Amino acid sequence: AKAYGKSQLALFNASLQQEVHQRLKLETALGDALGKGEFELFYQPIVEVGAGRSRVVGVEALLRWWQGEKMIGPDEFIPILEETGDIVKVGDWVLQQACAQVREWQEHGLPGLRCSVNLSSRQLLEKNFAGRVAEVLAATGLPPKSLVLEITESLLMQDGPETLATMRELESTGVRIALDDFGTGFSSLGYLHRYPLHIIKIDKSFISQAPDDERLKAISRAVIGLGKGLSMDVIAEGIETSEQMDFLSGEGCNLVQGYWFSRPQSASDLKPLLLSLSQA
Ligand code: C2E
Ligand code: CA
Ligand code: CA
Ligand code: CA
Repeated sequence: AKAYGKSQLALFNASLQQEVHQRLKLETALGDALGKGEFELFYQPIVEVGAGRSRVVGVEALLRWWQGEKMIGPDEFIPILEETGDIVKVGDWVLQQACAQVREWQEHGLPGLRCSVNLSSRQLLEKNFAGRVAEVLAATGLPPKSLVLEITESLLMQDGPETLATMRELESTGVRIALDDFGTGFSSLGYLHRYPLHIIKIDKSFISQAPDDERLKAISRAVIGLGKGLSMDVIAEGIETSEQMDFLSGEGCNLVQGYWFSRPQSASDLKPLLLSLSQA
């Protein structure tokens, strides 16, 4: 029995070693990814639904990592970039890239198009982050009012005294801030009061079952009302069906994002849709 136990332990060690090895490989590959040009931004339209006509009002930039032909999604590598600290330089690249792309679309027939960029807490805690944002806006020519920075509740939970100051500085330049995944973390309504926030994004976990689930419907309805009362825009994420769309527009939420309109796509793939919807 003793020998058996020992060999089990050896097996366990071997698989643990393999896991650590895999992880190190991934970390190393990720460390080189930016320099090798393996990152790409996909864009998903944010649509304003009106009576009989819909209009793309913005796009959210979503990071992708190419490993040869294989595309890796952000849920698999953003946590590693956050741990290694590389998220700061990758996030800076995302900001520059997205602002430049949206500016180009603005100059080609989509003048009011907005650009939404996801932020990690490490970025907001960087010294003079607001100054860096202003620099990127100036360099790309994107008007500050066209930029939306998306942050999460967990970011606000780990904030330092600088976070509020940075957010106020950003607001004073005209940049808007969205609270992403609203309601999924340790939501505190106090955040809505304490921080300069302009947009609430209702998480897709509420939307996905909303039309059939009375309680989730009540939550979505309350968040929409909260946003209205605070003069904030409310964007519903993860719209996949016309039932979900009907429910939301019935509740007066007309800003939506989801597979129902478009999956996130590369800039070149998205361009025809952007142009057609903007003129609809
Ligand atoms: P998120 O900011 O909540 O982005 C929305 C996610 O929902 C995206 O996943 C998008 O592809 C997905 N989605 C959109 N519409 C639908 C739908 O109708 N149904 C379903 N099931 N999903 C939908 P993605 O692209 O895999 O991104 C995952 C997360 O990774 C993002 O969640 C965001 O937190 C993070 N992320 C992505 N890009 C960046 C980045 O540049 N920087 C940072 N810090 N985080 C990023
Ligand atoms: Ca987001
Ligand atoms: Ca979200
Ligand atoms: Ca999310």
